[in-house]
Amino acid sequence: MAFGAKKDTASAEVKSIEASLKQVEDSKKRMVYQLGELFYESNKDNESIDEVYKEKVDTIKKLEYNAKVWNNRKLKTQGLRMCDNCGNTLPYDSSFCNKCGYKLQPVSEELVII
Ligand SMILES: [Zn+2]
Repeated sequence: MAFGAKKDTASAEVKSIEASLKQVEDSKKRMVYQLGELFYESNKDNESIDEVYKEKVDTIKKLEYNAKVWNNRKLKTQGLRMCDNCGNTLPYDSSFCNKCGYKLQPVSEELVII
C-alpha cells in the first residue's frame, strides 16, 4: 500500500514535470518560428545573404510564389483575378484595376519547381 502510494506520487510528479517540459519546448518552437519569420522578412531581398541561409530563403520565396499561383488558379475558376498592385479582386479579363488604376499583367499560372 505504502509502496503504491509512493509510486502514485512519483507518477504524478513525473506527469507534472513532463507537462512543464512540453510547455517549455512548445514555447521554444514558437520563438524559433517567430525568429525564422523575422529573419526571412528582413533578408528575403538581401543579395549578399550568407550561403547557409540562401537556399532556405529562396525555397520560401518559391513557396510564396506557388501559393500565389494556386490562388490565381482558384480565382480563375470563379472568373476572377487579383490586382498585382493593391490586391483587389477583379473580373479575369480586366485590363486595368478598377480600384487603383494599375495596368494588369498576365496572371501567373505556372508553378515553379522546388
Ligand atoms: Zn489595384
